[in-house]
Amino acid sequence: MSFVVTIDGPAGAGKSTTARAVAARLGFHYVDTGALYRALALKVQESGVSPDDPAAVRRCIESAQVDLSGSPDHTHVWLDGRDVSREIRTPAVSELSSRLAAMPDVRARLVETQRALALRGPLVAEGRDLGTVVFPAAEVKIFLDASVDERARRRARDLQERGIAASLDEVREEIVRRDRRDRDRAQSPLRPSDDAKVIDTTEMDLEPQVEAVLAVVTAHPACPRVEESR
Ligand code: C5P
Repeated sequence: MSFVVTIDGPAGAGKSTTARAVAARLGFHYVDTGALYRALALKVQESGVSPDDPAAVRRCIESAQVDLSGSPDHTHVWLDGRDVSREIRTPAVSELSSRLAAMPDVRARLVETQRALALRGPLVAEGRDLGTVVFPAAEVKIFLDASVDERARRRARDLQERGIAASLDEVREEIVRRDRRDRDRAQSPLRPSDDAKVIDTTEMDLEPQVEAVLAVVTAHPACPRVEESR
């Protein structure tokens, strides 16, 4: 496995923007693991399968092919050979992905996919359980957090930029519900691993966040130099 940087944390903590920027600066791959959960959720949604029927969900996702490609700035998410990068960002898919993420079958299915992505080269991966479960031996583990109000504001702005309509109140409710589900689930709950560096980004702009993470990553003695990593 290559050099792995994990960035975990709740919705809206700044994981995506920070992970993309750090990956771009270091010439590493960027892996958005939430996008994999979202792609499976889209498959379940389009198949008309009820998320309350675990056996039907398992059958539906068993043969699904999910993959990521592109650069940190232009990531593509693939479901069964179709580019679903846009469709997976709706509030309905967010909600369904967190319901499915509590199912052991769904998590087991995606752990292998995530580890296989780490064979492609040095990477910055973002998610919920990367430092604790998927990449327990990662060289660098970061946990980003922020107040719920700040996270809701960021998520609402992000959706607006993507042209998806949602009020601040709706977004706040959605992330509170998802966080509770992500933190309370029996399998792979959202929590910082004991060896993670926890950074609260509530009062931080993007650039200091990126600098803080870069400082931790580049301080690691095994961190590949830019020219080696591409
Ligand atoms: O990060 P994002 O909001 O796109 O993730 C969507 C959902 O996928 C999360 O709410 C969470 O339930 C689930 N997820 C997870 N483990 C990961 C990444 C995402 O459970 N490593």
